[in-house]
Amino acid sequence: MRAVIIGAGMGGMSAAIALRQIGIETAVYERVTENKPVGAAISVWSNGVKCLNYLGLEERTRELGGIVETMSYLDAHTGDTMCRFSLQPLIDEVGQRPYPIARAELQSMLMEAYGLDDINFGMKMVSVTDGPDQATATFADGSTVTADVVIGADGANSITREYVLGGPVPRRYAGYVNFNGLVPTDDAIGPATEWTTYVGEGKRVSVMPVAGGRFYFFFDVVEPEGLPYEKGSAREVLRRHFAGWAPGVQALIDTLDPASTNRVEILDLDPFDTWVKGRVAVLGDAAHNTTPDIGQGGCSAMEDAIALQWAFRDNPDDVHAALGAYEKARVERAGDLVLRARKRCDVTHAKNPAATAAWYDELRGEDGTNVIRGIVGNIMGGPLTPFP
Ligand code: FAD
Repeated sequence: MRAVIIGAGMGGMSAAIALRQIGIETAVYERVTENKPVGAAISVWSNGVKCLNYLGLEERTRELGGIVETMSYLDAHTGDTMCRFSLQPLIDEVGQRPYPIARAELQSMLMEAYGLDDINFGMKMVSVTDGPDQATATFADGSTVTADVVIGADGANSITREYVLGGPVPRRYAGYVNFNGLVPTDDAIGPATEWTTYVGEGKRVSVMPVAGGRFYFFFDVVEPEGLPYEKGSAREVLRRHFAGWAPGVQALIDTLDPASTNRVEILDLDPFDTWVKGRVAVLGDAAHNTTPDIGQGGCSAMEDAIALQWAFRDNPDDVHAALGAYEKARVERAGDLVLRARKRCDVTHAKNPAATAAWYDELRGEDGTNVIRGIVGNIMGGPLTPFP
């Protein structure tokens, strides 16, 4: 059995490692010429960490992961604590600590585990087709590759998805822009082992630790899609959006490096339930493009990789049965996470200001129980976090 994987993001690399684990010959094709992920870090929740552990990356993941002992929500303007609570009950319940990890380091870990020399960089797929005996990917340089199966882990603007669904599907602007980056930890912004979030006016500012004494930070700003933005102007833009916010937020704005701060318009895609056409399947953002509001897009891609492995393990000689089993295992779970994220997004970003005000009130009375219940609800349901 030979599998071609298009895209060397966290989904494609997890899938390549997972398929190779069960003896499938794999080849990875990536359009960029080197490992340069967009975005500073991600929170790998316990379900994602369990997938990385399963792929043999437990020790390295632990080394790269930030330690989050507590979570807190702070009032945007005063900086007063609305609630602060330990994450230990969550860890106890799901049996695994989550790890925020710098994106470049996560990506390098996966690529090195697979073998950097085994990744075909600079290979942009331009089309994919399949027939009775094989699937074929064609690249921008005119070359082609054939295999028993092509897995399209080619991200949110997937060409593979167009093939599987028979045409392009428009993504939906979620209504906000996310600025993110890395800064050294600083008590003036938040405690070094806390995921601290300032909330108010439908905006939020958050820091959480990654390894190496750094915070992953992000700012969410509600604004129309497509506004002009000059790269490097993050400090001025954020000062304007967060004027009058608490001293911790101002300290973060003063500290961040505007040149390396990313600005991302957040989009998602309505869940769809056809992930397979013949010998071609989608995986990761290509299959379920979500807003980052519950930090599950990448974790869900890792879950896909494990489910794909199990589907081929159970149907070793039948590509169609394997891909059918993969689709069946993943469609509902991944779609559920997209919708959960969308719901959270709307509350966080004041789509309905009364609901957001009610949430702020809830946070003022929160002892952690409700927030943790919500996060556990996101974590449970994947291949390695089955419902009890
Ligand atoms: P990608 O990471 O997009 O990788 C796709 C790869 O395919 C890329 O390397 C691309 O170059 C390549 N490619 C694309 N087209 C082609 C082509 N035609 N030919 C060859 N190669 C191609 N998730 C979490 O789990 N936790 C978080 O905290 C979190 N935070 C986020 C914050 C933000 C601001 C954003 C935007 C997303 C966040 N996510 C988070 C989501 C996460 O980043 C994605 O779900 C994840 O990157 C998906 O991985 P992927 O491999 O499917 O796609």
